[in-house]
Parts: sequence; structure tokens; C-alpha cells
Amino acid sequence: MTREVTIPPTHPRYASLMNREKIVSGYKNGLVALEGLIAHGRGECFDYLVGEQTTESAKLAINTAAAQLLVSEYPVISVNGNVAALCPESLCYLHRSVHKSMMEINLFYYTKEREEKISAELKKYGVDKVLGTNPKNLVKIPELESNRRWVDGSGIFRADTVFVPLEDGDRTLALKKMGKSIITVDLNPISRTSLAADITIVDNVIRAIPLLIERILYHKKNSSDYDLQQLIKRFDNKKGLKDALSIMSNNNVNRL
Ligand code: ATP
Repeated sequence: MTREVTIPPTHPRYASLMNREKIVSGYKNGLVALEGLIAHGRGECFDYLVGEQTTESAKLAINTAAAQLLVSEYPVISVNGNVAALCPESLCYLHRSVHKSMMEINLFYYTKEREEKISAELKKYGVDKVLGTNPKNLVKIPELESNRRWVDGSGIFRADTVFVPLEDGDRTLALKKMGKSIITVDLNPISRTSLAADITIVDNVIRAIPLLIERILYHKKNSSDYDLQQLIKRFDNKKGLKDALSIMSNNNVNRL
């Protein structure tokens, strides 16, 4: 039986419900793992608390992430099923706007079939080379047990900056130990990923990536390497996480 979903655009939580439908479709199309639905639900909960909008402190993190991607020698964008289902087009646009960057598929719940579907989805939006899919090129990240320990020797393994939206904490910590700069998007300001990353954007990945592209295009035109380095130097990730937590609690106490 096919299910019809009609969400009126006037619904106060229209955007969130439409995103939920994207994840459900992603699951049905084989991009998203069943467990990915649960991870999305956790994100929805934090998004509800943050008011389903990009905060000023998330904007600062986005601006700094744009600077970090532009000063990197070899930035790699790590793609999982949820991200591929939620915002494939903007993710591919992000890749094109940082010209030295590469995209790599990295799955916690790995199946060859899912990897192929995600790769095909990225190629639909004009990405010709997707790393992480050739078993001959895979190498292990030290000290990591899960499937995500396998990374591409010419991708994440040799990257100086890794962009890991919706990431698992173990891998973030392992990548940090390898000396990489880590940028993440994670609505939970106290996840291990959020705490371990150098730049944590506490925002919905669907809202954050277009804003990140906007800042990259701005800096490419207007900022020197020195300006970008200064932005990165001044950034305080812990402060951003504290701001997010305080918005989540104060906003809601004030509603009572
Ligand atoms: P950690 O291992 O880092 O402590 P975790 O075990 O919660 O965290 P996962 O379930 O692997 O991590 O990752 C999902 C993370 O992504 C969660 O923190 C969740 O809040 C966040 N998340 C889910 N959907 C979104 C979204 N659309 N935008 C931003 N963050 C999201």
C-alpha cells in the first residue's frame, strides 16, 4: 500500500516534517540505514530545543568553518547516508566551491549496496570522483573498531581537514589523534563529536550547508589568507557549545 503524505506549507513545523520525509524516502531508496532514522530523531529533538533556526553562535562557527576549508591544503568532506538523503545537492555544491576538496563515503553500518546508492546520488549532482569506494585503496585509522575505521588512503587518511557532518564520536576522536582539523555539524552540543571537533556547527545540516557555501563564496572574494587565519585563531569552540546549551535551556524556560 502506498502512503500519501500531505503536509500543508502553513504547518508551523513544515520544514522539520519535510526533512523527516526526506529521511524516510532516503531509507526507502536504500541511502539511509534503519539506525539512521533514530539518529535523525535525536537531531530533531535538539533542533526543537534550539528553535529550528540558525543561532548567531552557529553563524560564527559557520564563518570559521568556511575559513578553515579555504586555508586547508587538502580538505575532505565525509558523506554518510543521512547527509546524502537530506542535502545531496548543497553538499555537492559545497565540494565544488572549495576547489581542492574531495568527497569520501564513510558508513557506520556499511553495505556495498548502500555505498553504491550514495555514490550514484552524489554523481547525480555532478561529482565525478567519490573516494572511499575502492577496497584496494582503504587503510585503517589506528585505534578504531567500527566499520568507520576504513578510510581512503588518498582521501581522509591524508587530509589535513576533515568535514564530518553527523559523525560518530569514536571516529572524530581517532581523526583528532591523527592530527587532523575537524569540522562538524551536530545539533547535540554535548555529543562526543561536538566536544572533540575544532569547529562545531550546532545547527541542522540542511540549514548549515547553504550558509557555509555563502560564507565560502564571500571569503573567496573578500578575504586574504591572513584574514582567514585570524578568524580561525580567534574562534572558541567551547564557547559556541555553551551558547547553544544556554539557548536551548533559556529559550524554553522563557516560553513557560
Ligand atoms: P557521539 O558518538 O558523538 O557522542 P552519537 O552517538 O549521538 O554521538 P550518532 O548517533 O552517530 O552520534 O550521530 C548523530 C548525531 O547527529 C547526533 O548527535 C544527532 O543529534 C546529530 N544529528 C542528527 N540529525 C542531524 C541533522 N539533521 N543536523 C545536525 N545534526 C544532526
